[in-house]
Order: sequence, then structure tokens, then C-alpha cells
Amino acid sequence: SPLQPERATPRVIALANQKGGVGKTTTAINLATVLAAEHRVLLLDLDPQGNASTGLGIDRTERGAGSYAMLIENQPLAEVIRTTPVPKLFLVPADTDLAGAEVELVGFEDRDRRLRNALHADEALFRSFDYVFFDCPPSLGLLTLNALVAADSVLVPLQTEFFALEGVSQITQTIERIRRSLNPGLSLEGIALTMYDRRNNLSELVAQDVRGFFKDKVFETVIPRNIRVSEAPSHGLPVTLYDFRSPGAQAYVALAAELRRRERARS
Ligand code: ADP
Ligand code: MG
Repeated sequence: SPLQPERATPRVIALANQKGGVGKTTTAINLATVLAAEHRVLLLDLDPQGNASTGLGIDRTERGAGSYAMLIENQPLAEVIRTTPVPKLFLVPADTDLAGAEVELVGFEDRDRRLRNALHADEALFRSFDYVFFDCPPSLGLLTLNALVAADSVLVPLQTEFFALEGVSQITQTIERIRRSLNPGLSLEGIALTMYDRRNNLSELVAQDVRGFFKDKVFETVIPRNIRVSEAPSHGLPVTLYDFRSPGAQAYVALAAELRRRERARS
């Protein structure tokens, strides 16, 4: 049945990096879309900017209740889930109030576990998914913290540009800290190099640098800089639907396959 997942609990992956514009949202939307061809997938938009919601065709004016309502107002998951243009992909949109959540969360005793608790409050619905993705805001505040506490792993998109390595230590240290305290099971799913420019030697140098440092934690698949990727959101579609044959879409198909391969190799 369509409600029967392939395993007992979903794999929960947070897309995080405190830098903005590195490809978190694009990677979240497209990995979720590609995996939804065969799996039931949930994407939670945790960025007040709401780019994942817009990118899946849900405009700012029609957001309604979403991750804010769930985190702050105790709205059940079932009431904030929306369908998307992708049949087996479901979305919890970023409501317009989400910008206030960082401040309001502080007032809760379980401020860093609100997301985990909310998801597990409807265990049957939560477990009906094979994958859950969190699209995090570009900061290491309480929203990202909630994501890292509720996640099994973190996928860090890294823009292939000069100084790429300098920013990444902040997120990897945060993952370490959370592993030691709030979520011992948290792992680094991997680092995905994004916006790679084949015509620019610097991209290759940066890629070598990152691989030298993080070794096999870096996905072999590299996401090229591709105009079709940047056009897709204005059509409310993932690039993997907007132009499946484009190099950007094909790279995300390959990245999803690599993620699956690595998962199988671990189990
Ligand atoms: P983040 O969520 O980390 O802020 P986004 O995924 O929103 O980053 O990407 C930032 C901008 O770059 C967006 O306008 C997006 O459309 C564009 N973009 C992302 N990946 C690519 C790519 N591979 N090629 C071209 N443009 C891209
Ligand atoms: Mg984003």
C-alpha cells in the first residue's frame, strides 16, 4: 500500500550550513524529488525565507499553517502537511510567522527538542515516510539546532568557491558538539560540492582541497553551476521536474543514487 514504508523509521536528513546561498534548499528539494520517485518523502521548510515552499509551488500568500504552527503552537503534523507537484513528496511549508520562532523557542523548556517531539507525537504518520528532509536556515540558531537534534544525519552543501573550507568547520564543530550532548546518534551524511564551474580551474582546486580534508565524506557527485537550476524555482518546480535532462537535474539524480548506495553499504 502507498502508506507502507520500506523500513520501520524514516531516514531523517538535515540540510545545513550556516552560510546562505550554498545550495541547501536546491539540494533539499531535488534530493527529495528524486527519492520520491520510489519512496514516500517529507520535506520540512525550516527557513523563514520559505524558499523550499516557493520552490515547490506554494506561494507566500497561500502558505497557511506550517513549521511554525507545529513548533510553537503544537499543531499536529497531519494538519500542516501539504501535497506538492511531486506525487509522493509532501511538504511542511514555512509559515509567514516562522521568522519569530528563533525568539519564541527560547521560552520553551524543551526548546531544542520541539521539532523531534512534534514529529514523534504522531508516530504512525512520521513512520509512514521513508525519508524526511529538513531545509535549514542560514544560521546555527535554534531552528537549525532543532533540526540537528531531530535528525539522523546532516548533509552539508558546500559551494565550490575560494574559502569553502573555512566556513565548513563551523557546521562540523556544531555537529560534533550536538553528538556529544543532545543527539549522540547524529552523523555527517556527507558534504556535497555545489555550483561547480568546469570552466574555472579554481573549482577543481577547491574540490581537491575539500576532498583532501574530508576524504570519503565528500560525495563523488558534484553539482555543476547550471542556469536551469536557478530558473526552476520561479516556475515553482524542482529542476528535476522542470528540465530533467539538464546537467543540474542529472547531477541531483546521481547524488540521490550515491546517497542510496552509501546507505546500503552501511547497513
Ligand atoms: P541556500 O538554501 O543554501 O541559501 P539555495 O539552494 O537557495 O541556497 O541556492 C542559492 C541560489 O543559487 C538560488 O538562487 C539557487 O537557485 C541558485 N543555485 C543553487 N544551485 C545552483 C546551481 N547548481 N547552479 C545554478 N544556480 C544554483
Ligand atoms: Mg535556503
